[in-house]
Amino acid sequence: MSGSEPILAIDFGTSKSCMAVTDAMGQPRVLLDPLGRALVPSIISFRGDGHLLVGTEALDELERNPLNSLRCEFRPRDLGPRETLAGAFSDADLCSVLLDHLRRVADATLQLDTRRVLMTVPALLPESQKQALAAACGMAGLILERIVEAPVAAAMSFALGKKTPRFAAVYDFGGGKFECSLLDLQGGSPRLLATAGDLFLGGDDVDQRLASSMLEAFFHVHGVDLRGDHVAWQRVMTASEAAKRALSTALEHVVKVDALAEKAGRLVNLKLTLTREVFHERIADVVERSIFFCDEALRQAGLSPPSVEEIWLVGGMTRVPAVAERVAAHFGREPRSDIDPELAVVMGAAVLAADAEAGQRVTAPYGVGSPPPPEGVASPVAGRVARVATKKMFTAMMQAQPEVKFSAPRPAVFEVTASPLSVSTVGGFCDEVIGRNQQIPFSKTRIFSTGKDGQKTVQVRVCQGDSRRFDENAFLGTLFLEDLPPRSRGQVRIAVTFHIDADGVLEASARDEETGRAHAMRIQLSGASAG
Ligand code: ADP
Ligand code: MG
Repeated sequence: MSGSEPILAIDFGTSKSCMAVTDAMGQPRVLLDPLGRALVPSIISFRGDGHLLVGTEALDELERNPLNSLRCEFRPRDLGPRETLAGAFSDADLCSVLLDHLRRVADATLQLDTRRVLMTVPALLPESQKQALAAACGMAGLILERIVEAPVAAAMSFALGKKTPRFAAVYDFGGGKFECSLLDLQGGSPRLLATAGDLFLGGDDVDQRLASSMLEAFFHVHGVDLRGDHVAWQRVMTASEAAKRALSTALEHVVKVDALAEKAGRLVNLKLTLTREVFHERIADVVERSIFFCDEALRQAGLSPPSVEEIWLVGGMTRVPAVAERVAAHFGREPRSDIDPELAVVMGAAVLAADAEAGQRVTAPYGVGSPPPPEGVASPVAGRVARVATKKMFTAMMQAQPEVKFSAPRPAVFEVTASPLSVSTVGGFCDEVIGRNQQIPFSKTRIFSTGKDGQKTVQVRVCQGDSRRFDENAFLGTLFLEDLPPRSRGQVRIAVTFHIDADGVLEASARDEETGRAHAMRIQLSGASAG
C-alpha cells in the first residue's frame, strides 16, 4: 500500500453520498460519476431476478420494488439484521455494498486504485455505529484512515480562504437526520463545543407527511384507500419529494401521479396543486423542532445567539426557504449559504484528508484507523446475489463476481412481534403498548395524559424490548407534540397509536384529542420472527 495515492473523502449520507479529493492547489474537488453526477443515492435494491442494483439505479427501482430497496445507513441504534430477498444482513453488510460502489466510481474517475478513505459521520452517531462503519469499509476493501464529525468538515469548507469567526454554528438538516453544532474556531481549527439534534428527524419526515396528506386527500376525492399499499406509497413519496424541491424555487407546484389506483375498471390519477405557503405551514412544527435543538446546543455550549458570529447552512433541507428564514430569525443574522449545502461536508472533508496525507495533525482527535481488510473478506451481500448490476461502465468489472444465485423470492417473515413495543413513563420505566408475539398486522391505541398543570409539550419516547426500564431497550424514536392547550394536569388526552403492517413497519403516532395535532413516524421493525 503506497502512501502516495490521495486519501478519498466520503460523505456517507442518509439519503445521498458523495466523494471529494483536493487538487494540487489545495482546492477540494467533488468527484462525478461517468454520467456527471456528484450525489449517489445511498440505496441498494434487491431485484427478484437475483440482481442487486446500487445508487441511482436502485433509486429508479424504488418505486417498482419498494420493499426490497433499502437505505444504506448506520441506524442510530443497532436494530438487528435487515431481511432482504437474499437473506438477513447487518447495516455494515449493506453499507459495504454502497462503499464498494463508491470506490469503483472513484477509481474510474481518478484512474487510481483508491484504498485509503476519510469518512464523515453525524456528530451524534454513537460509537458502536462508528465501529460498524469501520467494518463496512473493511468489507469494501477500504482502509479507514479517519472518521471526522460532519460539522467539523463543513466548517473547513466555510472557513477555507476566509477570515474565520470565533464562534460559528453548523445547522445541518439532511434527509434522515438533523443536528445543530456549535464550534470554536480560535486559531483557525474548528473545535466542536456542542451538538444537539435528532438522528430520526430529516427531510424524509417532511416527504412522509406530504405523502400521507396526499393519500388522505385521494381517499376523500376518489374513495380509494391506498394507505398500506407500498407501491402507491412510494410513488406518492417520490412525488412529495419532488414537490418539496420544486417549492424551494417556485411558489406553486402541481403534483401529478398518473394511474395511481384503479376504480371500477378505470385508472385514476392523483393531481393536486400545492402552494409554498401551505407547504410551509405543514412543516412549521418540524422546523420549530430543529430550532429547539439549536437552543439546546447553544445551552450546552454556554453561548447565546448574538455571540454566534456565523451560521452555516448544511444539508439539502436548508434549501427550503422557510428553514433558512427561521434560522435567520432565531440567530438574528443571515446564515451563510454560499457553499452548496449538500457538498459542504465532503469538500471540507477533502481538505482534512489532504492534511492527513501530508501527515499533519487533523484538527480534531477523531481519528480511527481501521486495520487493512483481511485478504478475501468481502461483503456477504455480494456473495449472495447473482450480479451487482450498475451502469454499463462498471458492469465489466462487476461481472467478475461469483455467479451465486439466491433462491426464489420468499415472503417477508414478519408475522409476530418478537418483543414488546413500549413508551417511556416516569422514573425511567416504560409502559407496554403492544406485547410480544402479537400477530401482525395489528393496531392499538392507548390514551395517556399530561403530568403537569399547563403542560404545553409532550414527548413520547418509543422503544422495543423486554425490559421494564426504558434505557435497557432498543430506542426507536421520539414523538413530539407542541402547543398543547393550557389545561390542568391529566386534562390533555394524548392518543398514542401503534400500527404494525404485514411487513413489520411500525407507524407510531401521537395525537392530542382536543386540537387534533399529531406527530407520526414510520420505523422498519427488525427482530420479528415468523410465528
Ligand atoms: P443526507 O446527507 O442526510 O443524505 P442531504 O444533505 O443530501 O442529506 O439532504 C437530503 C435532503 O434534502 C432530502 O430530504 C432532500 O429531499 C432535501 N433536498 C434536496 N434538495 C432540496 C431542495 N432543492 N429543496 C428542498 N429540499 C431539498
Ligand atoms: Mg449529506
